[in-house]
Amino acid sequence: MALSWIVASGVAAVPEPCLPHGQLTQGYSVFEGDGACFEALDAARTVPRVVGSSDNGHLYAMISNACSDNVHLQHINSAKNANLGAIMDNSLSFIIADVNTFDEDGFEIKFPCTELVPASLTPLKAPRKSHAPPFAEILAKAQGSELAQRQIETAMSVVSRDSLEFYNTYLSEEFFTRHRSSADGQRSAEWSEQTFEAMGLSAELHDIGVAGMFPNVIATHLGTTFADEIVVIGAHLDSRMQDNNDATSRAPGADDNGSGSAGVLEIARILSEMQFERTIVFALWGGEEGGLIGSRAWAGMAADEGQDIVAYLNFDMMGFTLPGQPITLGIRDRFTTPDLFDFVNKTTVDFTGLPIGLSTGCCSDYQAFFEVGYPAMALFENPTTAGSYPDYHATGDVVANLNFEQMVAFTQAWVANTMVLASPL
Ligand SMILES: [Zn+2]
Repeated sequence: MALSWIVASGVAAVPEPCLPHGQLTQGYSVFEGDGACFEALDAARTVPRVVGSSDNGHLYAMISNACSDNVHLQHINSAKNANLGAIMDNSLSFIIADVNTFDEDGFEIKFPCTELVPASLTPLKAPRKSHAPPFAEILAKAQGSELAQRQIETAMSVVSRDSLEFYNTYLSEEFFTRHRSSADGQRSAEWSEQTFEAMGLSAELHDIGVAGMFPNVIATHLGTTFADEIVVIGAHLDSRMQDNNDATSRAPGADDNGSGSAGVLEIARILSEMQFERTIVFALWGGEEGGLIGSRAWAGMAADEGQDIVAYLNFDMMGFTLPGQPITLGIRDRFTTPDLFDFVNKTTVDFTGLPIGLSTGCCSDYQAFFEVGYPAMALFENPTTAGSYPDYHATGDVVANLNFEQMVAFTQAWVANTMVLASPL
């Protein structure tokens, strides 16, 4: 993988404004790269979103109108800068790279509809502070407790292929589509709410604020000791076709994201029978394919209310195995919180021994939590991106394509991670 960074941009690379090319917006800085610079976008066009902060309190904003995994980076807004792209690295800073230096096969930048906008000099949202101990301590506590380890191993052993297959098949076959703006999608949310309730969890539908779009489904398992410290695991329930606005065609969404939704339901089924120190919220999001609408609505609400979310773990696509490749747990490497990333790696290796690879795929609901300062992480079906799945966003995205052995293994990994975070009693 030949990567050649022009500028690794912390604040060091936020510098003098370069040529006032396009419209510079007051109060913003401009990134520089190799003598060229990104133009400041017309601020009236867009709503900046916070995606990260740097050491000295600068916050960075990016714009994503209709994020998609499937297309290469679009050039950034001017012929002059046509070869420059921007990605996030794990230290919450932008890296600016010359797209031409990327090894074609080895690395893809996946911000097709994202444009770099200038960094605001004024913090827009302060990073969230959690009252929970650091992730390293949370992991050490589980590793130091034989009882916790036995409980985790037992819970992992209960993950059921039949159960995952049932949830996934029901979601992708009972509902003709789960498009965010479809009546069948609404029914799928209501069914999910009832399914959580049948497990004894308190569940509710959470309006995502857009007329005609089906709600989030939120189920809560209250912690016994630190009930206000919350571990959230989630997956988007909605599906889509190639035409993202097509609300009527058959869109089974078995892998994207019946697989992740089935994983969340299966984990809820198992963990609802156990007790934890922290509260666990199981979430199935609406409106993800419309631009993370449901998760942003909920994470934004949680941030506004000052809720203490210890971590968010995301499931989006976990059923497809690359032909001829071993099962490898992909972990998304952007919009993730470094300490949590490290925690998930160690916990997964410790409890499952699964091979892990980095996925450069972009864009799912973890981003919504990351944006408002909560620790967030995401699992993916392999070390590539969604574009590797031939039936992505298509009528052919059916259960027959999925590898349930892999889904069991990945769900077990997320059971272990969720349990360690929530601390079993
Ligand atoms: Zn998805």
